Amino acid sequence: MEFLHAFFQSRAGNHYLYDAVTNRIFQISELLYTHRSVIFGALENKRDLFKLYKDPAYESIVGEYVKIENALKQGDISRNTINSVNYSFSFGDLLMDLNDSMQHLTLCITEECNLRCDYCTYSGHYLYARKHSNRSMTYDTAIKAVDFYNSHSMQSKKMIVSFYGGEPLLEFDKIKKIVSYCKNIFSGKECHYQITTNGTLLNDSFIDWFIENPDVYINVTLNGTEAYHDLYRHTSEGIGSHRLLLNSLERIIDKNRDVYTNRVNFLCNYLTISDIPDIMHFYKREETLQGKTPLFITGVNDTDHDGFLPVLKSKRHTEEDTFAANSAYDKLVEMYCNDADNSQPILKLLFDHSLLPIHRRQPYTGSEKVFFGGICAPFTQRLFVNTAGTFNLCEKVGDYCDYGNVHDGFNLNKIKELLLNYKNAHEGKCSSCWAVRLCSLCFIDAFASDVIDTNRRDRLCIRFMENLIANLSLYCSLKESSQSVLDYLDKYTYDI
Ligand code: SF4
Ligand code: SF4
Repeated sequence: MEFLHAFFQSRAGNHYLYDAVTNRIFQISELLYTHRSVIFGALENKRDLFKLYKDPAYESIVGEYVKIENALKQGDISRNTINSVNYSFSFGDLLMDLNDSMQHLTLCITEECNLRCDYCTYSGHYLYARKHSNRSMTYDTAIKAVDFYNSHSMQSKKMIVSFYGGEPLLEFDKIKKIVSYCKNIFSGKECHYQITTNGTLLNDSFIDWFIENPDVYINVTLNGTEAYHDLYRHTSEGIGSHRLLLNSLERIIDKNRDVYTNRVNFLCNYLTISDIPDIMHFYKREETLQGKTPLFITGVNDTDHDGFLPVLKSKRHTEEDTFAANSAYDKLVEMYCNDADNSQPILKLLFDHSLLPIHRRQPYTGSEKVFFGGICAPFTQRLFVNTAGTFNLCEKVGDYCDYGNVHDGFNLNKIKELLLNYKNAHEGKCSSCWAVRLCSLCFIDAFASDVIDTNRRDRLCIRFMENLIANLSLYCSLKESSQSVLDYLDKYTYDI
């Protein structure tokens, strides 16, 4: 029986073994690292060790073998006992939650946008995403979606409704009416309305309404300096959006500074990792921001596109680019490791979230059930409704699938089929993958439009595992400097 493990080095060059079955990490000797395949092979057939008997360090290698044999006997490491991977919820539990505990409704209120950002998911350059269009959601469809959400969230203490586009504020009048309708029917519950906007339509009428409604939050995309932001975020005529956005933010601050401080959030996209130091510098220095930092910083999707942006097209494709990306990454890691006083929140945002699953992992004996780590219980945490009123998983997955609609409710057969197809396509692969206990891939990584594409998934798995090795290495490097250096992650909360 095979082992499920990965080997890696810390930044100081120390060697480590991650055992996926027990979910434990061990520092190991260089000798074991170098001869790992023979030493682990010898656990099946001791005679394998003789392959190395001419090695001057043979006796020490045998010593390493004995250590591994003992670790196996004591259950610190284990042969692969994982023969099934499942969802962390049963279909019955899911049905109950869908009946009364839905948490978050996202309305795609319009597919139109006043900008034409180069890297936009809806630019027409991405293979599995819709394109900009002038379709918008009718008020009646939105109200049906809200009613559906309300009647399926009786047990939910908090109601969250998000408005998504295109540019949602093209439909500001509709949003106002929908929010006011929600306030009437969600009575007695904590409510939270979010608008994800490009920030170019924050006129006085919007700002006054925003100030008057303390449960409304806006998420504005701001990528950095004017030159950098406008390079990719502009109108179809190429007019940049940065100045307009910053002027609008200044108007909010003039009208009500507290509202700006508490209810304006930023999202930030970067094209390549070498752009990040300039973004950090911008967020620190730009006066209008008053020290605010992004809620999320996300790399632009560089898969499944037609090569429209040279910077994305060449990424990872030449040695030169790989070298540049690696040295940019190394510099960021260096800064993160030396940021003892937490003065670089963007670095924390980038790295903390990746280190969290490693830090919070639990040790196992190998007999416990194993779950698909990145999969949420579909539709309970988020229900995405497109302009036509069709139900989909979330804004990240695209809206090619159809899991019901505002008129007929959920199509439970389709949901069952989704779970079954995903499980069938993944179970065999995941149960023999060393990343299974730390995996965060989800439906979005499996689907190409409305079908599961295992080739695409396999490519994304490889990339995920490369990143996980880098994160394991970073985690152990930080722990080498001080065992308690990451203790603050115990209290880290991450709210999508
Ligand atoms: S503002 Fe958003 S939806 Fe509009 S083009 Fe830019 S990224 Fe796309
Ligand atoms: S990386 Fe891929 S194969 Fe491995 S556990 Fe995640 S989804 Fe499964």
